[in-house]
Amino acid sequence: MERWDIAVVGAGAAGLMAAHAAAKSLKEQGRAGSVLLLEGNSRPGKKLLATGNGRCNLTNLDLSLARYHGDVDLAAPVLEAFPPDRVLEEFESLGLLCRADSEGRVYPRNLQAAAVLQALREACGAQGVVLRCDAGVTKAVPQEGGFRLEGKEGDLVWASRCVLACGGKASPKHSWEGGGFQLAAQLGHSLTELCPSLTYLKSPKKCLRSLKGMRVKAVAAMWAEEEKLCQERGEVLFGEGSLSGICLFNLSARMPRDLSPKVEVVLDLLEELDYRQALAYVERQVKNHPSYPAWELFAGALNLRVGEELMKELSVPREALFRDLTRQQLRKAAGLAKGWRFPVTGTGEWESAQVTRGGVPLREVDLTTMESKKRRGLYLAGELLNVDGDCGGYNLHWAWATGLAAGRAAARGRKGKESC
Ligand SMILES: Cc1cc2nc3c(=O)[nH]c(=O)nc-3n(C[C@H](O)[C@H](O)[C@H](O)COP(=O)(O)OP(=O)(O)OC[C@H]3O[C@@H](n4cnc5c(N)ncnc54)[C@H](O)[C@@H]3O)c2cc1C
Repeated sequence: MERWDIAVVGAGAAGLMAAHAAAKSLKEQGRAGSVLLLEGNSRPGKKLLATGNGRCNLTNLDLSLARYHGDVDLAAPVLEAFPPDRVLEEFESLGLLCRADSEGRVYPRNLQAAAVLQALREACGAQGVVLRCDAGVTKAVPQEGGFRLEGKEGDLVWASRCVLACGGKASPKHSWEGGGFQLAAQLGHSLTELCPSLTYLKSPKKCLRSLKGMRVKAVAAMWAEEEKLCQERGEVLFGEGSLSGICLFNLSARMPRDLSPKVEVVLDLLEELDYRQALAYVERQVKNHPSYPAWELFAGALNLRVGEELMKELSVPREALFRDLTRQQLRKAAGLAKGWRFPVTGTGEWESAQVTRGGVPLREVDLTTMESKKRRGLYLAGELLNVDGDCGGYNLHWAWATGLAAGRAAARGRKGKESC
């Protein structure tokens, strides 16, 4: 069987970065060593190419921990060791120039995810990393102080050290059929519950059928019974039975796993007005235009169809005019525009999710090296771990940071052995 010093499983964001960092680090230490990068797909970085709508939002200058979920407190040392500047320096050393937008989201200067992948591939090649595609790992067996990696057709290779960077379950069309979580479990790790994140929210509210395709700017808050869990500002896209858009994706990351307290999304469609100002606006409308159709009460302020749906929800007859609206109806209309409630019954499926919520708990990993505390010589990086971020470059940042830490440490590391 072929023998390698380091095998990296998964040529996605974390794996490419880890393989490059490992090979470069071996060279810098003047140590001989071989690095193999195994990818189940027929080509590397398929998901990377799809990121940021093909533009790859690769990090964020505002790397607040509040943008991460899962084992966030434990994640802090890794993120502090590899802040955005450090990651951008790394990319710059690969020849990739990047720039940030007004919200701190960083993209390659040419806005092409393909350029990020190319830079990483070239850099891996230049450092002597051997990339092998169509080489999915189905089993990892500790053997002779290292790891025997098996594929569907039997043994693939033996490696002294192994970096698992297989990603998660989100958007399966971009990943090899996977089982990275299974490999981690085979090697002694536990897993937290896995759920789709950064995806739409399902809502049975009837009006969504006629609002399909409409977009509004809003503040979207998530409530569980009387408790406000979080809120996000941005564009909301109505779909049949769903609410989506980046701000809703971010709410999906905070969706309670237990839906027994009723969960709702409440949309404030008139953020810049408080309730009294919203009421004053509709009262002015009635005073100034008493003969206008009642369903057009919000025509000057909101998407026309959305405004009509609000009036429909108040059971205002279609033929009514502004002057027919009662004071109570005006109060309710202003209240609805400031807090339109949508019951939520779950998140979208894995196919529509951008990341996995859950994974290998960080307490099972040494966070300076990303080495497993369960098995020496094993390293974990990327989405496989129990950390997920909001939209905005946070997930790729996590992949780069953990890939860099794992790759460097693997280059310094010892052979595989059970640690506890
Ligand atoms: C549509 C979309 C858009 C996104 N946009 C952004 C964005 O703009 N910014 C951002 O920060 N994040 C974004 N994300 C999230 C981001 O892509 C992931 O968080 C990130 O790619 C995770 O990196 P990873 O290396 O851990 O996993 P991946 O990038 O998924 O890489 C894992 C690799 O391992 C391979 N693999 C899996 N199992 C095996 C195995 N057993 N053997 C061999 N190979 C295996 C897979 O085929 C894959 O190539 C987006 C996700 C999606 C789906």
